[in-house]
Amino acid sequence: MTDYNKLAELLLPHIDKTPDYYEKLYPERNLPEGARVTRVAPSPTGYLHLGTLFTSMVNRITATSTGGVFFTRIEDTDKKREVKGGIEDIIDGLNRFGITIDEGFISGTEESGIYGPYQQSKRAEIYQTYVKDLIKRGLAYPCFCTAEELDAVRCEQEANKIRTGYHGEYAKHRNITLEEAKALIDEGKSFVIRLRSGGNEENRITFEDTIKGKIEMPQNDEDFVLLKSDGIPTYHFAHAIDDHLMHTTHVLRGDEWISSVPKHIELFKILGFKVPKFGHVSPIMKLDNGAKRKISKRKDPEAAVHFFAEQGYDAKSVIEYLMTIAASDFEDWRRANPDADLNTFKFNLKKMSVSGALFDENKLNDVSKIKVAAMSSETVYEKLTAWAKEFDEEFYSLLTADEEYSKAMLSIDRDNSAKPRKDIAKWNEAKDYFAYFFDSLYTPCYEFPENIKAEDAKAFLMEYKKVYNKQDDRQAWFDRIKELCPKLNFCADTKEYKANPTAYKGSAGDLSTILRIAVTGRRNTPDLCSIMQVLGRERCFARIDQIINSL
Ligand code: GLU
Repeated sequence: MTDYNKLAELLLPHIDKTPDYYEKLYPERNLPEGARVTRVAPSPTGYLHLGTLFTSMVNRITATSTGGVFFTRIEDTDKKREVKGGIEDIIDGLNRFGITIDEGFISGTEESGIYGPYQQSKRAEIYQTYVKDLIKRGLAYPCFCTAEELDAVRCEQEANKIRTGYHGEYAKHRNITLEEAKALIDEGKSFVIRLRSGGNEENRITFEDTIKGKIEMPQNDEDFVLLKSDGIPTYHFAHAIDDHLMHTTHVLRGDEWISSVPKHIELFKILGFKVPKFGHVSPIMKLDNGAKRKISKRKDPEAAVHFFAEQGYDAKSVIEYLMTIAASDFEDWRRANPDADLNTFKFNLKKMSVSGALFDENKLNDVSKIKVAAMSSETVYEKLTAWAKEFDEEFYSLLTADEEYSKAMLSIDRDNSAKPRKDIAKWNEAKDYFAYFFDSLYTPCYEFPENIKAEDAKAFLMEYKKVYNKQDDRQAWFDRIKELCPKLNFCADTKEYKANPTAYKGSAGDLSTILRIAVTGRRNTPDLCSIMQVLGRERCFARIDQIINSL
């Protein structure tokens, strides 16, 4: 019979600690009853994706709702796939979207908390200590199979219609002896460490997924790899060790991991760890030609969170929207609590979509318009200029050339307005929306309402210049237009005009449209009286003159 202690020494001679050392090093968390400890564990193999942001938000709010802790852990065991700047991009992105991080990587370069290091590549010794212990207990063993050998086995299994994988009679080194292992090592052969699974495919396991409900699957019987030949663990093993030592209570992650749960449960059990609660978040979906499909990193620009930053969505709008698709009861709550802090929402994992929430850009825009409408002009100025500084230099210079002017512009139909306009969803719409406030962006329009003759428009604009008074409030401003009506044979009273349209050249409304077009180049704008006040008499008259001369 193989001496497992000797085998463990042979394979991992440099490991001199036992699991007990780490169990003491990372004590239980001191949290109130029911507090949930959650985490997001991104691999820095790309940039922050919508799915990671979504899952992070779900983890964050789960911890928040229960007075728990949300931490980050960098799963960088696959150095080949790592992208430079990936950690910064993901963590800074989470911060930018207001996902507060209690512990772990709190910025791209800083770690905080006593359960670290929070980066798997720095934890090799910890994993190896637990592996060594498993080897000693006969629960893990070295496997010397080469990639070619494993391929050949897979081909054979496929040809014989047998479930592929390293299990049962196909687990070639399952019963390797100390002597055999020694001989192969002496020959310079490299090895991985595999689990000696005690499972049986015929047996079923059930577990309660906190999002998807009860799930039943065959037990794991595969002797899957725990440590790769470079001594770095696989995801399965690393996550079990980390989530145990970091005292995660709820592992909420993408549902691509659901099929691995039997492996994970087996690991937690043989390691003597309490099995955490698992919750598998369905991917965000998208409608493509009427069919629902997963948002794809390759096909969909909105899969990358940068998209939202570039377009100028406010971080709060995106999170607010993601909450509407994360929790089926969120919108009702929001209607009842329009001004409440989102963190006071009692989030329940059971209210998440099991089949995958649908991403709807129009809905995001609607949600965002409400958020933007509720901002003060000061806030909009701050956010809009910060966005423009990064993404639209020209607009940035225009906005900052005269801060007071820009703020006055942003204040129209906003500050002190009982019903602020819900016109802007994202900052990249603002340049066009406010274009006529800047001479370099303003484009005159020479098209007046069809029912108005050019000569009548001209006559009105000339008369109007004589009576305009910058001090007028909205009412007085419109009264002046109405007062000009009789002289120009326009009708000052809408009802009367409707009753007898042929008796007049048009209505007071038509006149204000002429003025609006002359001053702004647009048919629809926020309150024109305020716009003219901000633009100033000189600029308004210059534009009016330009139109008069063209008519
Ligand atoms: N590193 C894994 C991934 O990026 C994390 C899965 C988990 O949250 O446990 O998919």
